[in-house]
Amino acid sequence: MLWRAARRFLRRRSGSGHGKPGETMTQAPLSTDRFHAALAQALGAERLARRVALAPYTTFRIGGEADLFYEARTPEELAQAIQAARDGGVPYFLLGCGANILVSDRGVRGLVIRNRARQTDIDPDTGWVRAASGAIMYPDVIQAAVEAGLSGLEHYVGIPSTVGGALWQNLHFLSPAPKRERTMFIEEVVVEADLLTEEGERRTVGTDYFDFGYDYSVLHDRDDIVLSATFRLEPGDRARMREIMAENLAWRQARHPPLETEPSVGSIFKKIEGIGAGRLIDEAGLKGARIGGVEITRRHANIMINRGGAKATDVIALIRRVQEIVASEAGYLLETEIAFVGEYDETPDARPYTAQTFPRQYIERAAARRPALP
Ligand SMILES: Cc1cc2nc3c(=O)[nH]c(=O)nc-3n(C[C@H](O)[C@H](O)[C@H](O)COP(=O)(O)OP(=O)(O)OC[C@H]3O[C@@H](n4cnc5c(N)ncnc54)[C@H](O)[C@@H]3O)c2cc1C
Repeated sequence: MLWRAARRFLRRRSGSGHGKPGETMTQAPLSTDRFHAALAQALGAERLARRVALAPYTTFRIGGEADLFYEARTPEELAQAIQAARDGGVPYFLLGCGANILVSDRGVRGLVIRNRARQTDIDPDTGWVRAASGAIMYPDVIQAAVEAGLSGLEHYVGIPSTVGGALWQNLHFLSPAPKRERTMFIEEVVVEADLLTEEGERRTVGTDYFDFGYDYSVLHDRDDIVLSATFRLEPGDRARMREIMAENLAWRQARHPPLETEPSVGSIFKKIEGIGAGRLIDEAGLKGARIGGVEITRRHANIMINRGGAKATDVIALIRRVQEIVASEAGYLLETEIAFVGEYDETPDARPYTAQTFPRQYIERAAARRPALP
């Protein structure tokens, strides 16, 4: 953990071309024309759109515009776009389903690449499923695997994610029903992935490379791009897999707000082992709390929904409020799980509350209740 924190710190200081979440992308005077010129030849001027609203490309439906926007349809186009941005000194951000990010109201400077590389190949004999990193986990990849009689991915049904996003965050879910005894992680079925590395090399790497953890992979700390990934699945009973899918979908529907009418990014705060971030928020009486257009849904205390016209600043204000109240009431410091993308003055992620930075009165009150406060 210390090593990860140190790497993150060093990366923030040294800066990076990739608009990594948590990094505030303030830079030298904006020069969209210069960026456009640097990319147009490699990517084609007609496919390089200007000033594209990003909110529709996120599940939260929040955020400003990208200066430049490009859709990559194959892993080759994805690698080419990243390389062109790097060569041209253009800051960039790679977008999957936009299901784990909060885009700033001021938008994203430079280039946003939306990953639409969705080719998926299945070999039923070996159980290997090879998917381009923009393939959508559900229905595309999961449905195809289940149809082929291959088991291992069906647990992640109903979670909005590309393959690349799933590796970035080590997609997870409590499954299978009825016991739901353990959290299953996507790392359990990943065999290898093709990358365009931070250093500009094309490499095939194994699972160990990713250093997977809870809500973590090395992609948080390295500017590597996943071009495609291979999963190794086991032969499975189709009826049982469909049962698991139906149970998990029903479980989600009963507890989560529907994305179509109540846009969200899933859980806002990281899990606290054995306690539950949602439970602490619920116990603090914060279900239904609202700032501007964003509200903590009554269905699930760890999920905020966009009630219409919500701003990223509303979300951040509500996050801070929840952090303050939960620290004061329960003595726990909630850490955000989502990534903050684009131009921010400050985000809860870039400057997480620690015992040093958290307002003293909360620390003291909390410490009185719970001596083990970190
Ligand atoms: C309603 C709802 C329910 C959810 N439930 C769950 C759940 O049960 N379990 C769970 O784990 N998550 C859950 N999530 C969170 C989210 O679905 C996952 O984190 C998902 O993996 C995000 O994938 P994405 O494609 O949307 O990534 P994005 O949000 O688009 O991007 C996230 C990060 O990944 C990086 N990235 C994306 N693709 C690549 C790539 N090819 N190479 C390198 N970096 C890349 C991006 O640059 C960005 O930094 C939920 C979200 C919602 C909205």
